[in-house]
Amino acid sequence: MKPEINAIPSEEDTGKHSPIRNRKQKSFTELQQLERLADRGSKWFELKKQAEVRYKNQLLPIYSLQNIKFQKNAPLLFLVGGIHGVERIGSQSLLAFLSHLIERLHWDDYLNQLISKTQIVAIPVANPSGMALGKRSNANGVDLMRNSPIESFETKNLFVSGQSISSLLPWYRGSNQLEVETATIDKVLGQAARETNFILSLDLHSGFGFRDRIWFPYAYRSRLMKRISPIVSLKLLWERSYPDNAYIIEPQSNHYLTHGDLWDYFYKKYGHKSGRTFIPLTLEMGSWIWLKKRPIQALRFDGYFNPNTKHRKSRVLRRHISLMNFLLHASINYQNWLPTPEQEDNLSQFAHTLWKKT
Ligand SMILES: [Zn+2]
Repeated sequence: MKPEINAIPSEEDTGKHSPIRNRKQKSFTELQQLERLADRGSKWFELKKQAEVRYKNQLLPIYSLQNIKFQKNAPLLFLVGGIHGVERIGSQSLLAFLSHLIERLHWDDYLNQLISKTQIVAIPVANPSGMALGKRSNANGVDLMRNSPIESFETKNLFVSGQSISSLLPWYRGSNQLEVETATIDKVLGQAARETNFILSLDLHSGFGFRDRIWFPYAYRSRLMKRISPIVSLKLLWERSYPDNAYIIEPQSNHYLTHGDLWDYFYKKYGHKSGRTFIPLTLEMGSWIWLKKRPIQALRFDGYFNPNTKHRKSRVLRRHISLMNFLLHASINYQNWLPTPEQEDNLSQFAHTLWKKT
């Protein structure tokens, strides 16, 4: 394939049909970046407007970016960013990875062959109204990560675990139904999952602790999921391939339990007993380290969730590209590392030792 030598289109050249075109506000930066990226990668990816949400007197799109050609029954790599609107660095990290992929597709024959072996679906700005408002919740005040119908019977944290008292208080779960944003993620995931036996997902967040953590379900109970062996295999694969990596991989329940966790819900719906392997991962970037290095950030709400200096933001953006590249390759080659039925018991026992569960 001949490499294209087109210059990267400028902001003014692109987004011709965009509902958010020409808006200069900082609030829409990530949506505009996604539209430009989709123009640049239109040979391989399709940008679909899956829904709209109201923000003040306008409608904002919830987009998915999906690769156009892939083999029948290909594994699915599902990537989500910005579920919590204020955690912009999650969206930006996902956009950085997609940009890396699209730029390489312009010249890398090997990657062109590889990409047809998996279905890639990304929702980089899952909560555009929350992002525009600089809030964790959406415009209705609902914390989308507490919005699913899963109940935790173990949690004792009245607020952090999700509350149904008022949308004016944090961690509000909403009124017994999925919000447009969560229903859209559900719809897109459900459609993409239809013809596959393997799903690997990554949902990017920030705002907890000093280290980068990769969490997996459950959030509603402290007991490990029954079929834990694929997660142990993936962890071992990652650590052998990247021995100097700095992530901690663990169940979310090691830290706190919540009601309504989206990935608990999706795991039960699309993995679990369906016969399909589904590994839902959440990246929790250790944002407290950015605060420690620059305490003045504490004066701004978004300072608790985002690196506010240019060099630190660049460092974060390049940091997670290796992880997402690894997940891409792991999903394509899942049959080479998923445990055999004979290995499952041993790996399951190992998981209980590793994460100190009984
Ligand atoms: Zn979050």
